[in-house]
Amino acid sequence: MDQQLKQEGYFGEFGGSFVPPELQEVLSYLSEQFYKFRDDPEFKEELRYYLSEYVGRENPLTYAERLTKAWGGPKIYLKREDLNHTGAHKINNAIGQILLAKRMGAKRIIAETGAGQHGVATATACAMFKMECIIYMGAEDTRRQALNVFRMELLGATVVPVHKGQGRLKDAVDEALDDLVRNYKNTFYLLGSAVGPHPFPTMVKHFQAIISEESKRQIVEKEGRLPDAVVACTGGGSNAIGAFAHYIDEPSVRLIGVEPDQAPSLTQGVPSIIHGFKCLVLLDEEGQPKKTYSIAAGLDYPGIGPEHSHLKVSGRAEYATVTNEEVLEAFQELSRTEGIIPALESAHAVAYAKQLAPTMSEDQIIIVNLSGRGDKDVEQVYQMLK
Ligand SMILES: *Cc1c(COP(=O)(O)O)cnc(C)c1O
Repeated sequence: MDQQLKQEGYFGEFGGSFVPPELQEVLSYLSEQFYKFRDDPEFKEELRYYLSEYVGRENPLTYAERLTKAWGGPKIYLKREDLNHTGAHKINNAIGQILLAKRMGAKRIIAETGAGQHGVATATACAMFKMECIIYMGAEDTRRQALNVFRMELLGATVVPVHKGQGRLKDAVDEALDDLVRNYKNTFYLLGSAVGPHPFPTMVKHFQAIISEESKRQIVEKEGRLPDAVVACTGGGSNAIGAFAHYIDEPSVRLIGVEPDQAPSLTQGVPSIIHGFKCLVLLDEEGQPKKTYSIAAGLDYPGIGPEHSHLKVSGRAEYATVTNEEVLEAFQELSRTEGIIPALESAHAVAYAKQLAPTMSEDQIIIVNLSGRGDKDVEQVYQMLK
């Protein structure tokens, strides 16, 4: 069984589970439970119910008519994850995992968060399902993101500042894993992106695949055919893998992930093990994960999901970078032309679509995954533009 589960956690040479034995035991059990409930009709029905009644799915695939005109090339469609409850795609995964936690009898949910967005999505789901919620957050990050800490507390969560190490996301991950090993009997670790040891990347993809399940149906309804390209930003890779999932076996559809040029894990990373799994990682001269920086906090991660690493190496997907200036420009252009203020993360995808458009023709179609709304970033952009 263990061997089989391990194989299932690989994408080419990437993925797997490189953790101490006591943690492996917990993960193997989680994996077993995930596969058991994933296809359970009642579980699926309950997930559909909450995605519809609480998250607000399905969300639209909006034809961006003015943007299409302005760019003068292919038709641009926007998949509107920004319209979900809490304003981003992260809630899809949080609801999915919490329903699984409930089935597994967990009473306590733990999570780690960097900028706070995953913490807020988790705290939201916990409030909804009456679960105790502990969010680990680097002490430095709790200072920089004080408002998100307050948001999580409003939702009933306990935010634990982590002072170890540099007091950043990595240290919060370590703390959360420690907690899991100590308390696995009643505790569920709700991971926020398509990263980490097996089964997390597979599980997060499963819950985010609803994005492309919908967009594929929607584009066929609207245009009678598949898109020519799907563009999404990549931090850990969850919105992108969700936006790609149902097109991976459609070779006519180009899949393009976009990263900040200051955190180019896929464009410049090398195979290495980080946080218990193998992926493309940005390393410094000493072979340590490089300190990255992004104006979009959600993209500030030196690794990337294992499936993206494989899609890159196998050539099925392409990955590109954009600069901060291009992102800021795209942030403003989408706001002005379509009346949609995108998250800074999502603005990376918009910025790249703008470069892609002139290379394509008017009878082609690009779907841009709008992973979240930009209200959270307005103040930061105001400071940057001043
Ligand atoms: C967290 C976040 C991201 C990056 O995470 P992925 O796992 O790469 O999707 C992108 N966009 C928004 C709006 C986010 O909140």
